[in-house]
Amino acid sequence: MFLNKVLVSLEEALMSTLADYGRMLLGRRCTCKEKPGLAGTPIHYTDHVSGWKVDGIENRQELTVVCPKCGFLWSFAILGIAGKATLEERRAEEKRRFYSK
Ligand SMILES: [Zn+2]
Repeated sequence: MFLNKVLVSLEEALMSTLADYGRMLLGRRCTCKEKPGLAGTPIHYTDHVSGWKVDGIENRQELTVVCPKCGFLWSFAILGIAGKATLEERRAEEKRRFYSK
């Protein structure tokens, strides 16, 4: 039980903020004609059980950015940014959200 609490605290300490996720966009570009960089574009986030953990937000979030040139909606999954829930993590999130209250 104690170890469980320590691990949860460590996970919280390592949790990424939206600013951290913004830095993960450095070097990533849209594939449209002008190939603009995606870093610095606003990150859109919405509740999703398979999403990323974000510091300061209780539920996992789906993270996306919009190309400033062509408007394509890029999901962080397609961009290959780590942190999307594994199947096991998704099940834990579903359990926490829907079955433990
Ligand atoms: Zn584009």
